[in-house]
Amino acid sequence: MRLVIVTIAAVVFGLAQPPQREVAVTFDDLPIAGVLPRDIASSRTLTDQLLGAIAAHHVPVAGFVNESKLAGDGGAVDPDRVALLRRWLDAGLELGNHTYSHADFHTASLADFEADVINGEATTRRLLEERGRTLRFFRHPFLHTGRDLATRAGLSSHNLSQLLNEELRRTFFDYINSHRVEEVKRCLLDPAYERQTLLDIAMASGFSSKTAFNTADKRRTHPSASGRPTAGPCG
Ligand SMILES: [Zn+2]
Repeated sequence: MRLVIVTIAAVVFGLAQPPQREVAVTFDDLPIAGVLPRDIASSRTLTDQLLGAIAAHHVPVAGFVNESKLAGDGGAVDPDRVALLRRWLDAGLELGNHTYSHADFHTASLADFEADVINGEATTRRLLEERGRTLRFFRHPFLHTGRDLATRAGLSSHNLSQLLNEELRRTFFDYINSHRVEEVKRCLLDPAYERQTLLDIAMASGFSSKTAFNTADKRRTHPSASGRPTAGPCG
């Protein structure tokens, strides 16, 4: 009986659960960092060696793209460089936005940085969508996320909203929430999340409450992501 009680106590209070720690392995400045030889043959060799090592160790990896590095000598997007990115997706890896020109948010103006972010995902987004996937990740170059709170907040306030309204015809929060809803839908289909509730997944995907998720989900998806069990494990 004592064992049963101790076991129940451990489950109830989470005593038997060590903290879960996860490590993300990422590569920046794709397809090829500026300090390396940029000719296409060298770029292919380096990419294949890197992807071969990643595959050999079965590491889930995200690569972050500077789309300025897709430009050929004439300045237009070079299909051979785009093909380097396709190799990452062929290997089952993630691609994310790392701004167009590797802009530094600690020196660029807010307007310039915003434009660089949006300009930085045109090809990457298309490559992912060709495969039924969505762009989910962004990384600030140099990990410079803004020198102060006003600058950081500025990125999500008026200017970016205006830019998105004009260019994408939707509000900033619709834009962010659309990514969050896609993340919830992805998790619902992933066996790794089958023990988590919809609310757990929504919160982990960036929503602040179930109401916020339901509102975004209704506005965006048909059928909705919440048309699944709302109590108990997902799946
Ligand atoms: Zn970088």
